[in-house]
Amino acid sequence: MRYLAPTCLVLLFSIATSCSDDSSDTIYDIDSELAPYVDRFVEAAADQDRYIDLRDYSLSAHIETAADEVAGQCVSYTNGAHRIYIDPEYWVRATDLEREFVVFHELGHCVLGRSHVDTADDRGLCQSIMTSGLGECRIVYTATTRDDFLIELFDE
Ligand SMILES: [Zn+2]
Repeated sequence: MRYLAPTCLVLLFSIATSCSDDSSDTIYDIDSELAPYVDRFVEAAADQDRYIDLRDYSLSAHIETAADEVAGQCVSYTNGAHRIYIDPEYWVRATDLEREFVVFHELGHCVLGRSHVDTADDRGLCQSIMTSGLGECRIVYTATTRDDFLIELFDE
């Protein structure tokens, strides 16, 4: 243990140094498991000519139980910071597209500032990733329907 202490000190120092090099005091702290989905969100936005720099949003996102029993939650603070919680139990069970859906939904709140949309098409299917999940519409988010959902999500 005694040999570990100097290493820790060096590590702390290098973190402190890199922090002080950063002139902005924004938070950007994304769990490594969530990061690929957050990156996809930025790419999907860019595909529709919306260029998002997540550092502007003081965003943190963690796989951590939220206050409510929900798959995900976006909490916006008065100081402009945003924190996303993704439920650990949901996450381990979810498919790749289900994970994408919940991460994109929460980023829709936290980054795009969108509210819930529960409109259905004539077959009763949800038309937006921003569905509350509590409305009448049914979510069918597949490789086939994904493109239409993304167009709707980033449409201004
Ligand atoms: Zn929501």
